Amino acid sequence: MQNFVGVGVFRGRVIGPVRHMPPALTEPPAGEKLEGSTTPEAAAASLKTAGATVKEQLLERAGRAEGAGKDVLEATALMATDPMLIKAAIKLVKTGTSAERAIWEAGDSVAQMLTNLGGYMAERSHDVLDVRSRIVAVLRGVPAPEIPDSAEPFILLAEDLAPADTATLDPAKVIALVTAGGGPQSHTAIIARSLGLPAVVAAAGVLGVADGDVVFVDGSAGIVSTEPADAEHAAVAVWQEKASLLSVFDGVGQLADGTLIPLLANVGGAKDAQEAAAANAQGVGLLRTEFCFLGNSTEPSHEDQVAAYKGVFEAFPGKKVVVRTLDAGADKPLPFLTDTTEPNPALGVRGYRTDITTPGVLARQLAAIADAAGSSQAEVWVMAPMISTPAEAADFAALCTAAGLRVPGVMVEVPSAALTARHILNHVEFASLGTNDLTQYAMAADRQLGPLAALNDPWQPAVLALIQATVEGAVEQARHSASLETSAPKPVGVCGESAADPALAVVLAGLGVSSLSMTPRALPAVAAVLRTVSLAEAKVLAYRAVGASSAAEARELVRAGLPALAELGL
Ligand code: PEP
Ligand code: MG
Repeated sequence: MQNFVGVGVFRGRVIGPVRHMPPALTEPPAGEKLEGSTTPEAAAASLKTAGATVKEQLLERAGRAEGAGKDVLEATALMATDPMLIKAAIKLVKTGTSAERAIWEAGDSVAQMLTNLGGYMAERSHDVLDVRSRIVAVLRGVPAPEIPDSAEPFILLAEDLAPADTATLDPAKVIALVTAGGGPQSHTAIIARSLGLPAVVAAAGVLGVADGDVVFVDGSAGIVSTEPADAEHAAVAVWQEKASLLSVFDGVGQLADGTLIPLLANVGGAKDAQEAAAANAQGVGLLRTEFCFLGNSTEPSHEDQVAAYKGVFEAFPGKKVVVRTLDAGADKPLPFLTDTTEPNPALGVRGYRTDITTPGVLARQLAAIADAAGSSQAEVWVMAPMISTPAEAADFAALCTAAGLRVPGVMVEVPSAALTARHILNHVEFASLGTNDLTQYAMAADRQLGPLAALNDPWQPAVLALIQATVEGAVEQARHSASLETSAPKPVGVCGESAADPALAVVLAGLGVSSLSMTPRALPAVAAVLRTVSLAEAKVLAYRAVGASSAAEARELVRAGLPALAELGL
C-alpha cells in the first residue's frame, strides 16, 4: 500500500478505480511557421472556425450542466470567440506564424494581461488558457483534454482541474476528486464543496498511480491510499452509515441543553437562496450582493437591483435575510467601483470604503434594498463590509435610516472593528464576524495564497481572541447603555467559512456568538455536532482553544473534547 497525503477539501470516504485526465496538450514549438501551401488567410479562417467549434462544444456541455457549472461553461464558451484572443492570433498568422503557435501565444498574452489586472480577472486567465488548449486540439484533430467517459463510477485524478472541466462533472460518475496540484481555495476545491464530492488536493506524487488502479480516498484526512485493505473498506462502510445521518438538517440549530443557535445560509443570489431554503436554513446570514453583479461594467439599475434582492427575500418569507452591501475590491473587483491598479487591493478601497471614492452607489443600493424589502415578507437586516471604525458604523447607520431600513449592522472583519466593537455597537443593531477576512488581516496573510494556508487558519488563537473581543464588546455595550441596564447584548453572528467547520462552530457557540451562517451543505454536520454539547461544555472548549499556543493545538484540544466528530466520521 502507498499513501499520498494532501489537503482534504471535502469530507467523505470512497474506494474506486482512478481515471486520469488526458494529458495537457503539448506546446506548439516556438517559431513554428505556416506550412508551405497554407496561406495566412486560410490559417486565419481555420482559427475562426476552430474558435466557433470550441464555443459550440462548450455551449453544448453547458446545456447538460447545472448551477455554477453551467455559468462557468457559458462564460468560458464566450471566450472561445473573444475578438481580443482571435484577433491577436490572426495578427501573428499574418506574419507567417502557424495557426497553432499563434493561438498559443495569443492565449499567453491575454492570460498575462488578465493576471496583471489581479483579483477576479486574474482567475479568468485559467479560462483563457483552457480555451486556447481546446482550440489547438480542434486544429490538431485530437480530443480536448477533458474528463474521461467511463461506464463505471471513478475517482478523477489530475494535476489540477480547469473550471470548465470541473463544471461538467457528473457526480453520479465521478465519486471523488484527487489532484496533485491546486490548493484549498482552488477551483477544484470550490466545485468539490459545492457538489459535495470527497476531494483531496495538493497530493504530491499521486499522479504515479496507474489508470484503473483502485484507491481509497479520505476527503477529511486528506489521504489517498492504493491497494485498499479491510480497514479501508470498513472505513468506507462506516462513512456511508454516518453520511446518511448527515444528509438532512431539520431546521433548528441548538445545543444539547436547548440553547438556540440559528443556522443560516450564505447565498449569492435567488437560486442559492431557493437551495438554502430547501436545505432548511433558518434564514440568510449573508447575501453577497456583489455576486449578483460580478459581470457588470456599470452600476446596476434600481430595477435590476430590486429584482435581484426580491428573488432572495421571496425564498425566506417571515425569516431573517441579512443583506451585505457591495463588497467590491480585492478578489471581487467591480469595474464601476474599484481601481484595479491599486498596489495592495486587500488593503485598499474595498467594501464600505468605496463610498469614499464613488459616493452615491451605496445610498442607491440601500434605496433598492428598502424597495425590495417593502414588497416582501422577509425580515431584512442590512450590513456594511469592511467597517473599521465606530464613525464609519455611525455613518452607515445614518444612510440606512435615511433609506428607511431599520436594522443596520456591520461586518467585523478588520481587527480594529473587533477591538472597538463596544463603540461600534452603539451605532448599529448587530455585528457579523467575517472570519475569512478577519483571519487574513489578523495574520497579515493574503487569503488567496496557497503557501500561506497555514497562517490563514481561523483556528489561529489570535483570530479566536478577536472573536472573543467582539462578543465581549457587545456585552460591554449592553452593560453601558444607560437606559437599558438589563438589556441583552446585541446579536453577534459569524458568516465566515469558520462557521461551516463543526468543531469550530462549537467554539464559536462557546465564545457567545448568536448565529452561524454557512454554505447550505454544511448545515447537517454543524447541527449534528452542536447538539452533542451544552453551552457550559462549549464554553470550556472555547476557553481551551483561545488559550492554545497554535492553531494545531487549538484544533486538537477541541477535537479531543468532541467524540461526536469521530462517531460521525467528521
Ligand atoms: C468574510 O470575510 O469572512 C466574509 C464572509 O466575507 P467574504 O468572504 O465575502 O469576504
Ligand atoms: Mg470579507
